Amino acid sequence: MIPEKFRKAVTFSYDDGNTQDIRLIELLNQYHVKCTFNLNSGLNSSDVWYYKNQPVRRLNLPECTELYKSHEIAVHGSFHRNMTELDSPTLHEEIFSDRDRLAEIFGTMPVGMAYPYGSYHQAVMQVLQKAGIRYGRTVCASHSFQKQSNLLAFQPTCHHDDEDLFQLADKFLNSDSDDIQIFYIWGHSYEFDGNHNWDRIEKFLDKIAGKSDIFYGTNAEVLL
Ligand SMILES: [Zn+2]
Repeated sequence: MIPEKFRKAVTFSYDDGNTQDIRLIELLNQYHVKCTFNLNSGLNSSDVWYYKNQPVRRLNLPECTELYKSHEIAVHGSFHRNMTELDSPTLHEEIFSDRDRLAEIFGTMPVGMAYPYGSYHQAVMQVLQKAGIRYGRTVCASHSFQKQSNLLAFQPTCHHDDEDLFQLADKFLNSDSDDIQIFYIWGHSYEFDGNHNWDRIEKFLDKIAGKSDIFYGTNAEVLL
């Protein structure tokens, strides 16, 4: 929950648990902001693929408890399967086994989730509820800072490569609304390597971090 004295909150959500998270976390920690990392506990460093000619390798999560310790860990499916294409037992397995393995590794039961490929439907949301998962992030940009009532189909404000990112940041910083305003940014850390734009997230953090009237929390701290 956003502490009462704040009317604004900023939160980040990054997916897949790749080696580029190391550089991203260094930056986030430097700016004292919080992120939720959506992780696939069934995959490890032997699963390599290429994004715009840059290798993308997953981290071995049991070695990463120190790395992620100031942030929230959330479910992203054990094997990053498209959840709308699974039969019921496989869907349950994908969600429950990821939740339980992440809880075992990081010592806290996950309460959140990001949908792989942004794909979900009613049956997926029902399994999330059974698993005690209280919010599910989609990939649909809202370009908004309003609180949302359906947290199982949560729409982020925008992706970090959204062309309106800095315009939205100005709007957010200048807002004097009495309603709670939430700026929610998502992405994948490997995209900064592939697009050669680590300076973009630094510039954004420079702008948005360190303000006394903004609460910087994990997704769970801000949304629940
Ligand atoms: Zn993903």
